[in-house]
Amino acid sequence: MSILIYAESAEGKLKKVAFELASYAKKVANSLGTTVTALTFNSTDTSELSKYGVDKVLKVNDTKLAQFNAKAYADVIQQAAKKESTKVVLLSSTTDSTYLASLVAVALEAGYASNVVGLPISTSPFQVKRTAFSNKAFNITEINTDIKVLGLAKNSFGIIETSTSLTEEDFTPTLSDNDFNIKIESTEKVSGKVAIADADIVVSGGRGLKGPENWGLIEDLASVLGAATACSKPVSDLGWRPHGEHVGQTGKPVAANLYIAVGISGAIQHIAGINSSKVKVVINTDPEAPFFKVADYGIVGDAFEVVPQLIEKLKVFKGQ
Ligand code: FAD
Repeated sequence: MSILIYAESAEGKLKKVAFELASYAKKVANSLGTTVTALTFNSTDTSELSKYGVDKVLKVNDTKLAQFNAKAYADVIQQAAKKESTKVVLLSSTTDSTYLASLVAVALEAGYASNVVGLPISTSPFQVKRTAFSNKAFNITEINTDIKVLGLAKNSFGIIETSTSLTEEDFTPTLSDNDFNIKIESTEKVSGKVAIADADIVVSGGRGLKGPENWGLIEDLASVLGAATACSKPVSDLGWRPHGEHVGQTGKPVAANLYIAVGISGAIQHIAGINSSKVKVVINTDPEAPFFKVADYGIVGDAFEVVPQLIEKLKVFKGQ
């Protein structure tokens, strides 16, 4: 009755969220006196999971599952959960996993808690702390079903090394045509850039940058930091940047280790989406801009003067 985690990968490589989930699962498993099993889909190397407390990997290798397909993936996860007699299924809070979690919960007749932060407060009754109202509040949720599905909020637990001896097992689920009645016709990938969802650092620009011709500033700062670029809603509405870069309540959520906001006022709808980032930095000419109230570090200044200086300093620092 081990804990089952869905260890996400991209192009065969395990994602960082898989290691955070494994670290979290190990702690939960310790408190329940059980082990951790990870389920992987077409991952080439799963041995790294042994560093983060995973005892067993169920490896699914099937070309039909090469592309993410929520219905089929959810079916496989529930089959793996039944095979392992799992009582707790853990997923991360990426877009794919959030989509999957509710399908898995329905298939297993399980209670589901999303956006979980921290270890269970109690395992009997099973209570977890979750974020609510776009990270403005917490709530305590009790799950009373036999099987529990949890979605761990990104960057909420961290990656903790715990070495285990890992066993690997091939797992061949039973798939039917019904699993594939939703088909992805095509995927457009942005290449050569750090994706916002995977980024440790995000550099984001707002209307204070005056126009798309000035976006080189954001890109240069992002490049020196190895960061993803993002923007406020009006910036994408104005067509200065693609909609995929819009972050906030109605855009992509950001839970980065460092979020740098340049020329962004800090409206409530923007902050709602980036609030779970660990360290927030703002550069703004207006000392009264609301962003300063939520920022860890703030620079009152003109982005066109501050950002080039910051880039130069970072280049020198990186060169050392
Ligand atoms: P502005 O509010 O125009 O702020 C520009 C800032 O730049 C100002 O603070 C100014 O002092 C500063 N500035 C100007 N010149 C410089 C300079 N040279 N150097 C440095 N700073 C400078 N917004 C989002 O971002 N994401 C969302 O998901 C979102 N969802 C919304 C949902 C709803 C239902 C609604 C009603 C609104 C939503 N908004 C969202 C819009 C939000 O309310 C704000 O209007 C928006 O975030 C403001 O964008 P901004 O900070 O880029 O622009």
